[in-house]
Amino acid sequence: MLQEDIQQHLDIQWLKIKDMKIKEIYDTMTYGPAPENADEAIQFLKSHKNKFKLFINGKWVTPASGDYFDSINPSTKEKLAKISEANQADVNKAVASAKRALPDWIKIGAHQRARYLYALARQIQKHSRLFAVLESLDNGKSIRETRDIDIPIVIRHFYHHAGWAQLRDTELKDYKELGVIGQIIPWNFPLMMLSWKIAPAIAMGNTIVLKPAESTSLTALLFAEICQQIGLPKGVVNIITGHGKTGEALVEHKEVNKIAFTGSTEVGKIIRRATAGTGKKLSLELGGKSPFIVFEDADLDSVVEGIVDAIWFNQGQVCCAGSRLLVQESIAEKLYKKIRARMETLRIGNALDKSIDIGAIVDKGQLKVITDLVQLGVDEGSTLCQPSWSCPKDGYFYPPTMFTDVSPSATIAQEEIFGPVLVAMSFRSHKEAVKLANNTRYGLACSIWTENINLALDIAPQIKAGVAWINCTNVFDAAAGFGGYRESGFGREGGREGLMEYLKPRINDKFTNQPKVISIKKSKPLGVQSNTKVGIDRTTKMYIGGKQARPDGGYSTIIKSNNDEYVGEVSKGNRKDIRNAVEAAHANNKWSNMTGHARAQVLYYLAENLAIRREEFAGRIMQMTNQNSTDALKEVDLSIERIYTYAALADKYDGKVHHTIHRNVTLAMPEALGVMGVICPDESPLLGFISTVIPAITMGNNVIVIPSEKLPFSATDFYQILETSDVPAGTVNIITGHKDELAQVIAKHDDVDAIWYFGNTEGCKDMEFLSADNMKRTWVNYGKYRNWLDKAQGEGEEFLKHATQIKNIWIPYGA
Ligand code: NDP
Repeated sequence: MLQEDIQQHLDIQWLKIKDMKIKEIYDTMTYGPAPENADEAIQFLKSHKNKFKLFINGKWVTPASGDYFDSINPSTKEKLAKISEANQADVNKAVASAKRALPDWIKIGAHQRARYLYALARQIQKHSRLFAVLESLDNGKSIRETRDIDIPIVIRHFYHHAGWAQLRDTELKDYKELGVIGQIIPWNFPLMMLSWKIAPAIAMGNTIVLKPAESTSLTALLFAEICQQIGLPKGVVNIITGHGKTGEALVEHKEVNKIAFTGSTEVGKIIRRATAGTGKKLSLELGGKSPFIVFEDADLDSVVEGIVDAIWFNQGQVCCAGSRLLVQESIAEKLYKKIRARMETLRIGNALDKSIDIGAIVDKGQLKVITDLVQLGVDEGSTLCQPSWSCPKDGYFYPPTMFTDVSPSATIAQEEIFGPVLVAMSFRSHKEAVKLANNTRYGLACSIWTENINLALDIAPQIKAGVAWINCTNVFDAAAGFGGYRESGFGREGGREGLMEYLKPRINDKFTNQPKVISIKKSKPLGVQSNTKVGIDRTTKMYIGGKQARPDGGYSTIIKSNNDEYVGEVSKGNRKDIRNAVEAAHANNKWSNMTGHARAQVLYYLAENLAIRREEFAGRIMQMTNQNSTDALKEVDLSIERIYTYAALADKYDGKVHHTIHRNVTLAMPEALGVMGVICPDESPLLGFISTVIPAITMGNNVIVIPSEKLPFSATDFYQILETSDVPAGTVNIITGHKDELAQVIAKHDDVDAIWYFGNTEGCKDMEFLSADNMKRTWVNYGKYRNWLDKAQGEGEEFLKHATQIKNIWIPYGA
């Protein structure tokens, strides 16, 4: 068999070394091959006759298509096994199996689930060497990495989540499972990605269907055997193999409640659009072009080893690879020299050789992607540096590579290469470093090197990335969340924040298909503002950058009450008004830079000013909705109370220090999303506005608000409250007009980071679909209605969670 050929190849190498005289070995200091024995892995393949079926409902099932494809060893280009191609019928079967298994899996309870997760961890640990060897054979990554990094992380993930399974009903009692989860993983860390997906999903009481990448299915299939060995209930884990089409069928399956995906940004966007409006929860862990920033006071020898780990670990096929080296100009040449010297000493070769640093690229296609992009780098005028030695010819190898003299706009500085290619640029000032670091559409990770902790902690919050490693890189742990900003996707894996991806608040079950009906009982008017025909006839303007602004289009809309009576007119906003509002929001960094305490003071001030005009605001509500004064006053009072809630939370909704297995403090900090669009509900004109706008700004976001289209005057009256309460200009921008037209402009705007939409089903779908271009975070109501008057539905930390994203900052500690 082919694997025996690999062994033979390594044996020949060994004989060559053996024939050398001892003195010659000492003189040359040549490494001998140190081949890992592959017998057990070969036995595993043989036990399936080198032809794998699908794992559905706890059994091996022949694919309905009858089609198979080859899995190749990239170190030798030899065939390892045939893998089933699952088609639509197989996907249906797997999803049905997961759905059948769900009720019992929920019923057995937290403790029993914890026992299964623990058993999985133990069993993988027992077979860890087999997993490591099989992974190296299938993926081409060095045995040193699979043995010492990938598989230990996998085991840790299952142990850690066995703990979360146990704690679900106490620590997370306000949440429940989602149901059937579809998971699609890439080829760069096959088993590790599997564990990041499966462990939290089943720990929280979900059942799953997982599709590994076409080129690296083998360890997932061995994992299926482990599930059988520990007696995991049938159907809890289903593994279906295949290409992109199989993944597509899983994404589109109606019975799947969530898709968790790791892979390219391109496919991530396809999935975002395919799931738009379906109510499927989605987490996307996508590409990156992460900066590796070196300041002049850094320990350069440590930096060099950091670079080896950042870009040559796993042949650079790492989503969070430190692929952009940004180095302070004063030390740039010195550092490049050291890197060049280190590149010479790196060893490349068969993944099963224990003494190599760099293994093989996953397949021919990826090798071509890397080769073409490197050629483009040369063509675009950057300086190429590669070691003097050449790569073995028998597999898909690519040498460690560095580019210098790279312009920040060069293709190789912007595109993810996903190979062992470092792109180096220099900077002069700290400000320039931050600017260069953020000059990317991605935002997965960053690595900051300096001996000055003050500088490191000044830079970390300024970089738009989900992970910041200080004087370290590519460190992962089950207890810490991992995931991106911007086009690197959304959602986190690991840590408490990762669990949230597999849960939903129990309160969601209370939402209704129709808005709460408000009782229309006329009562004596309260002090109403005069927009009416009898008062001064005034068309409300919009509110942009702290000023009232006329609409660009020069149109206004008549607003009538629930009883069809004329109430007044509002400006009709258009695309240009939204653009101005986005600009105003970006121009304001005062609000996001304020402390939670300072923001709380402003929020209390808002509440105070609203309280002073309680009757006037109630009168306006009565005028628009024809409610009686008791209900209208109740809405104002609840709005004041709600502002108090968020003022209270402003300095209390904070982060954590995660307990990882490394010598680091890992700070999980909730950060503002940036500029958000908030499309308010049509119900409860004042309370709906307050309940959505205030939590969004509490965490430091600046917002562009589209108030209720039918009942906008509570929001336009609120301008005066904003103007008198020390809210910085540009924090709240309000555009009135056609709700869905304006919402679409916001959803398409590339400088808006997130959008909340409370409206109809069609609008929800549009928001999710249109937001895919720049991967905005979206939070929509899928046409369901909250009762804003009910505290449990209308306020709380859930809102703040959607207004923030977690940045994990790793700082060496006690090392
Ligand atoms: P893809 O994003 O194409 O693949 C990731 C997974 O999604 C695989 O299981 C793949 O199946 C599956 N898939 C592909 N198309 C669809 C679809 N339309 N619907 C559902 N699932 C689908 O990544 P590639 O493997 O093709 O790599 C391409 C590039 O992506 C790399 O060069 C790299 O830049 C980036 N990448 C990023 C990763 C990350 O961790 N962020 C990981 C891997 C790649 P299959 O592979 O079987 O066809």
